[in-house]
Amino acid sequence: MDCVFCKIVTGEIPSKKLYEDEKVIAFYDIAPAAPVHFLVIPKVHELTGASDITEENSGIVAHIFAVIARLAREQGIESYRVVTNCGEQAGQTVRHLHFHVLAGGTLGAMA
Ligand code: 5GP
Ligand code: ZN
Repeated sequence: MDCVFCKIVTGEIPSKKLYEDEKVIAFYDIAPAAPVHFLVIPKVHELTGASDITEENSGIVAHIFAVIARLAREQGIESYRVVTNCGEQAGQTVRHLHFHVLAGGTLGAMA
């Protein structure tokens, strides 16, 4: 699978990980768009993006949001933004579901 995030999951591409469990990993974005910028992704390459989410497979999304809330709390981050780009025109460059967590200052307008 020629997917940069799958390679991060296997360790083929190194990353600065801040969390890992059996289902997801969180690692810092290589090109941060805010003072704190990490990504949380499912380990399996099942969903290419938010448009693949269904009632049947959305459990992973709930888990990711719970992980994000816990990581933010543990790091003392009170204010943050969660973003998922879906589709090329929205800025999606990696077709493996991922959520950006941005924090560490006043964030600009959404779009
Ligand atoms: P997207 O543009 O698809 O919403 O988000 C993909 C993100 O992955 C971008 O913010 C980009 O900087 C990040 N990214 C791409 N390649 C790598 C990599 O090899 N390592 C890390 N840590 N982040 C990456
Ligand atoms: Zn992948």
